[in-house]
Amino acid sequence: MEQRSAAAWIPDTFDLPSLAHAAAACRGCELYRGATQTVFGEGDAHARVVLIGEQPGDKEDRAGRPFVGPAGGVLDRALADAGIARGDAYVTNAVKHFKWALRGKRRIHKKPNEREIMACNPWLLAELTALNPAAVVCMGTTATHAAFGHAVRVHALRGRFHVTRLSPHTLVTVHPSAILRLRARPEWRDDYAREYTNFVADLRRARALLDVNGSDAGE
Ligand code: SF4
Repeated sequence: MEQRSAAAWIPDTFDLPSLAHAAAACRGCELYRGATQTVFGEGDAHARVVLIGEQPGDKEDRAGRPFVGPAGGVLDRALADAGIARGDAYVTNAVKHFKWALRGKRRIHKKPNEREIMACNPWLLAELTALNPAAVVCMGTTATHAAFGHAVRVHALRGRFHVTRLSPHTLVTVHPSAILRLRARPEWRDDYAREYTNFVADLRRARALLDVNGSDAGE
């Protein structure tokens, strides 16, 4: 079967507005068929850290913006607790269209497969070329897969920087939705507190790199 890819939709101009505009028309894999719209990355063009999630969720698909749902709330709070200014962070997803299955009347998230992750990879590479950030944070298995180009175990790589196809400073951590799930039950409260603290600690490692590169970044 022919390997489909977003490559044919990447424009010649690598600025963020041009990329976002072109991505709206992408048909690089089948996921556009079931989604409302492309959800491209969002943030300042001079952001020094890029945070990558999996794919838009139901709320993001409807809003057309990444990380506006409950997991985005966890991420916003963790960024603040880690001392990373919102203006220093660009947020995006490894896959730009919502993949879902109907359960009753609800659209339930479905994990993108290898083919879909790699089909969407040209958008991620283009965003990072436009941004040239000091650090990239991959949150969860799909983002980490997109960074390494193959499936990897997040927990084996978590909390450290790695050289990947996305950046020589790629930090691996969990997805905020994995932390959010632990908030669902009172008996998991301790696990939630521990995982949230570990997530903030990972983000602080990214911030430490920004601190080291602060003078280079024109602060
Ligand atoms: S998921 Fe990515 S490659 Fe597939 S259609 Fe959407 S933007 Fe294009």
